[in-house]
Amino acid sequence: MRVPDANRLPGVQSLRGPLSCLNEARYGIVWGVVGAARSCFEAALEYSLTRQQFGKPIASFQLTQAKLADMAAGVNQGYLLALRLGQLKDAGEITTEQISMGKRQNVRMAREVAATARGVLGANGVTLEYPVMRHANNLESVFTYEGTDEIHTLSVGKALTGISAFT
Ligand SMILES: Cc1cc2nc3c(=O)[nH]c(=O)nc-3n(C[C@H](O)[C@H](O)[C@H](O)COP(=O)(O)OP(=O)(O)OC[C@H]3O[C@@H](n4cnc5c(N)ncnc54)[C@H](O)[C@@H]3O)c2cc1C
Repeated sequence: MRVPDANRLPGVQSLRGPLSCLNEARYGIVWGVVGAARSCFEAALEYSLTRQQFGKPIASFQLTQAKLADMAAGVNQGYLLALRLGQLKDAGEITTEQISMGKRQNVRMAREVAATARGVLGANGVTLEYPVMRHANNLESVFTYEGTDEIHTLSVGKALTGISAFT
């Protein structure tokens, strides 16, 4: 017997309904990980300006500045990607595959930013005194949940080629 579920997912006739909930969660992740990455970048920037080695702040070394520039570029690219997906979503034009690309790309970016920031903080990067390790740990979960990196890659690959490589 079919159980009426109009109060839970009104108008839904198929798996399309529950799957649309996953799209919403994944779209949220596209934004959320930009915030995590930004927090890691800001912690690394602040730390690099105060931590002294060889008589200077580590921010004055070119290698540190390269890391800061890479992190800032990653955060800004991730923000712009999320913003564009939001525009498409508001216009009712966003596709599942675009959300897959956004989730995959921004989680990758945030994971890389967290790892770089952790390095800038040296040994302090592995402590919970700074926010970086907490974000890095959380991002490892986000890499796997709401569709693993691999499955979103296959989703994008299918959209590009028309061929499913899932099985
Ligand atoms: C913190 C956390 C919270 C979670 N919360 C929830 C939740 O609330 N609800 C829920 O339902 N689930 C939840 N999950 C589960 C999550 O969705 C699954 O862990 C995820 O889907 C991967 O499934 P699995 O762990 O069984 O890995 P597997 O499916 O065994 O995959 C292992 C590896 O193989 C890869 N792989 C699998 N198939 C292919 C393929 N065809 N081609 C290439 N690579 C492939 C995967 O990408 C992964 O890297 C959560 C997971 C975590 C870590």
